[in-house]
Amino acid sequence: MNSNKLILVVAVELLIILLLLSLVTYFGSVTGNGWHAFSLGLLLYLIWHFFQLSQLIQWLRSKKFTHLALNFGMWREIFKQLTLLQQTSRTKQKKLIKFLDNYRAFFNVIPDSVVILNHDNEIEWFNKNAQLFLGLKKKKSIGKNILKVLKDPTLENLLSKKAKEENIELHSPVDKNKIFSIRVIPYIKNSRLLLARDISRIYWIDKTRKDFIANVSHELRTPLTVISGYLETFETRFAQDETFLHPIQTMQQQSHRMENLIQDLLILSKLEANTSKKIGSELLPVPIIIKTIINDTRVINLEKQHQINMDLDEHLMIAGNEIELQSVFTNLISNAIHYTPAKGIINILWYQKNNKAYFSVKDNGEGIESQHLQRLTERFYRIDKGRSRSEGGTGLGLSIVKHIINHHQATLEIESKVGKGSQFTCIFTLPK
Ligand code: ADP
Repeated sequence: MNSNKLILVVAVELLIILLLLSLVTYFGSVTGNGWHAFSLGLLLYLIWHFFQLSQLIQWLRSKKFTHLALNFGMWREIFKQLTLLQQTSRTKQKKLIKFLDNYRAFFNVIPDSVVILNHDNEIEWFNKNAQLFLGLKKKKSIGKNILKVLKDPTLENLLSKKAKEENIELHSPVDKNKIFSIRVIPYIKNSRLLLARDISRIYWIDKTRKDFIANVSHELRTPLTVISGYLETFETRFAQDETFLHPIQTMQQQSHRMENLIQDLLILSKLEANTSKKIGSELLPVPIIIKTIINDTRVINLEKQHQINMDLDEHLMIAGNEIELQSVFTNLISNAIHYTPAKGIINILWYQKNNKAYFSVKDNGEGIESQHLQRLTERFYRIDKGRSRSEGGTGLGLSIVKHIINHHQATLEIESKVGKGSQFTCIFTLPK
């Protein structure tokens, strides 16, 4: 209502009161009761207001906003404005309900399971798929801590933000063949959305692939050992025979390469199967492990005469799996030796900075073009296949490194410049 209209309504109301009171007083004064008539007029006016006030209270209480009798002037305006207010709030409410229904319908049609959690991880709401696949029950589960419904340590880590990965894999409590990728994302204030996506198909295909590789590698190992054994015998037997010696030695090299490949494939399969296993808490003498590896690799290094410098913090130890960490250090050091030309410089560092332990291998070798860096840890990814083969590489070294690094909840950083060299750094978080 604009102010001009308001002034008009008030003015009319005042005018009417004045007119009525004047009329009443006039008729009263004719009979000599002017003041009495004036007071009576005021009293009636007051009663009229009480009547309207009681109507208003009743009207507000009953919430039945019907048209009211006997209202005009300012009271009519009051009721009109209140009705308008009520209508707008009703329309807003309807819109809100519709929006909420749409939003619920949306969450019910999406193929993911959705659960809304409060800051204490208690279930506030969930969609139909969460009922079907996560086993949540309409009445029982609301208000319950999700960890009491889905008992899983990795989910506990994810919810407490300890998990490094944003996603975790979880077997459905309803159907063990169903695997879900779980994500937790902040929602409105103090609430989080738990999203579970069905990845069963990919999971089982991947599992079949892993099992196949592990089985094939295992099956190939025995025949290869037999072939290698015979080749060794033939080598001694035909040591003086030039016609046979060369092919036998080539066959020996190739079977040796296959043995390395099978060994790396088996290591990878074992690592993949062990990802959920906890690493030990025992502290490992890392500087001694690194020094032993450097001494062992000096044999390959003799040919190329690299300058290998090391700067190791003798007191810095970390908890981990000794065999796995040995494999990481060996792979990175031997890569530096393989891909650095003769007389190059290799620096090996083991140090602590803040609450992190760093193992770094830096070389001044050929370097790697930036487009390859992202893909180096993929299986069989090699920049130059021929070069890798001639260096005795399998293309699996960095993939093994990456798996072990993940298993230790560490990170691998690769920096490289073509013509300048490369630096591979493993960063381990130390316990507080
Ligand atoms: P490979 O057995 O071929 O060495 P890796 O997985 O260990 O397999 O390494 C993958 C590829 O990364 C190598 O083929 C090589 O091209 C590249 N690479 C690894 N380390 C270095 C390095 N220090 N300098 C240059 N290239 C490297």
